[in-house]
Amino acid sequence: ITRIHEMLAPHVAARPDACAVIDIGGAAIGWRDYDACIAEAAGMLADEGVGPGDRVLIVAENCLALAALIFAASRLDAVAVPVNARLTAAEIDRVAQHADPRCILYAAHVSTDAAAHAEAAGARPCPLRAGELRLSPGTGAASPDPVAEGPEQVAAMLYTTGTTGTPKGVMLSHANLAFAAGASRDLRALTPDDHVYGALPMTHVFGLASMLMASALTGCTVEFSARFSAEALFAALSRGVTVFPGVPQMHALLMAHAATAGHDRLGPEARLRYVSSGAAPLDPAWKRKAEAFYGLPLQNGYGMTETTAGVSGTRNAIGDPDISVGPPLPGVEVTLDDSVGAEPDVGEVLTRGPHVMKGYYRAPEATAAAITPEGFMRTGDLGRIDAGGRLHIVGRAKELIIRGGFNVYPPEVEAALNDHPAVVQSAVIGRAADGDEEVLAFCQPVAPGAVTSGELARFAADRLAGYKRPGRIFVVEALPAASTGKILKHALMTHFADLLD
Ligand code: ATP
Ligand code: MG
Repeated sequence: ITRIHEMLAPHVAARPDACAVIDIGGAAIGWRDYDACIAEAAGMLADEGVGPGDRVLIVAENCLALAALIFAASRLDAVAVPVNARLTAAEIDRVAQHADPRCILYAAHVSTDAAAHAEAAGARPCPLRAGELRLSPGTGAASPDPVAEGPEQVAAMLYTTGTTGTPKGVMLSHANLAFAAGASRDLRALTPDDHVYGALPMTHVFGLASMLMASALTGCTVEFSARFSAEALFAALSRGVTVFPGVPQMHALLMAHAATAGHDRLGPEARLRYVSSGAAPLDPAWKRKAEAFYGLPLQNGYGMTETTAGVSGTRNAIGDPDISVGPPLPGVEVTLDDSVGAEPDVGEVLTRGPHVMKGYYRAPEATAAAITPEGFMRTGDLGRIDAGGRLHIVGRAKELIIRGGFNVYPPEVEAALNDHPAVVQSAVIGRAADGDEEVLAFCQPVAPGAVTSGELARFAADRLAGYKRPGRIFVVEALPAASTGKILKHALMTHFADLLD
């Protein structure tokens, strides 16, 4: 295929009535109807003047309309810019100003946030088969870059999570997405009989590439979930879901829900055969608990927006103590740059291959700084490669804490704290103090008052070398998180400013 919408054609021809999508609300959509939704959306976009290279901003949460608009943009050689409706109006405005879209669509029918943004923008009704959307005109200047032909053309632009700062617009080509779809299908051994649970937001690369694109390429069913709900997932798992890719927090929330409902493992009616975690560090304690719950190995995948999700993924058996992110996916190169001055066998992870983005939109300097002249993407992550060729992510270079000359990797400290039964999740950061760095930890308890910071300090002392132990531990109600569930580390200091001195 040369463009992503071509993924659907074989399924439309071969199995027009087979279920392609289960939309929010439970409606089952066959391949022929899915295709008709896309065709209609493309017609609507063309009427709005959308043409090659134009950006189409889609403010949404997972639903059929979002998927249809992404493929519709492809039909017009335009660029889909899916944005999570849960962002604030200011955040969406910033993306809109940067992306300069021809038009903005709001999935007001599935998202109260999208409805509120549409209302504030004075957007008009735009009824489509895929859903009752809202539309407002954008600023829509022509693309600053010449529009490439065929597979190298930009298909989608995703703004990064912003874990470490301001989100950047990542340009992904049709070839990037097609490669990621194939890699993800192969890693999971997807077949047309699979039923994928689609809780990962399609406004983020893991949902877009490894969930939506992989399902479209395979021709299997994808069931959209707009907002992650452990209860809804638990119910779906007993209704035939076979594949569930999630972020670590989703597995933790599911298990917590099941426990309160009196289930310590999945029931015999479940058809689940593949479950995975990605997008953030997988906690070893959670991995063990999750495997006991699912009765399946919990696979770990590593990637980033700039690499169209997949860089590597595990193929473990159940109970494997491996907490690596697996070997590189076929066709993907990974090397370490050890000039970053971490431990001898630790370096910055560099990766090259058909998964590497075309660049950051309207930011040539940032692109040049991120991709080496040899084509390697600098991930900003610190990693190690073991004797078996498996990659281990030890932390982010930016978040490395150097205390008394020793390296402290936040994920290791977080894992030690998360081991405490009363801790749901934690975030560890460094703060400059007297020419050194101190380690600060923020921990979210299972219930208010479930654990004290003194107790956690003693707990950590049993598990961590002195220099790794947090100088201060704050037990907080909740941690600031992105819409994907990722903890926003750069926001911790301001978020908890009143706790800090
Ligand atoms: P920003 O780049 O805006 O600061 P971000 O890096 O969090 O945000 P994403 O592209 O969503 O944005 O996330 C990619 C990052 O997530 C990776 O660079 C890595 O640090 C982390 N990550 C992804 N998967 C894993 C994993 N399996 N284990 C550990 N870390 C992971
Ligand atoms: Mg990043």
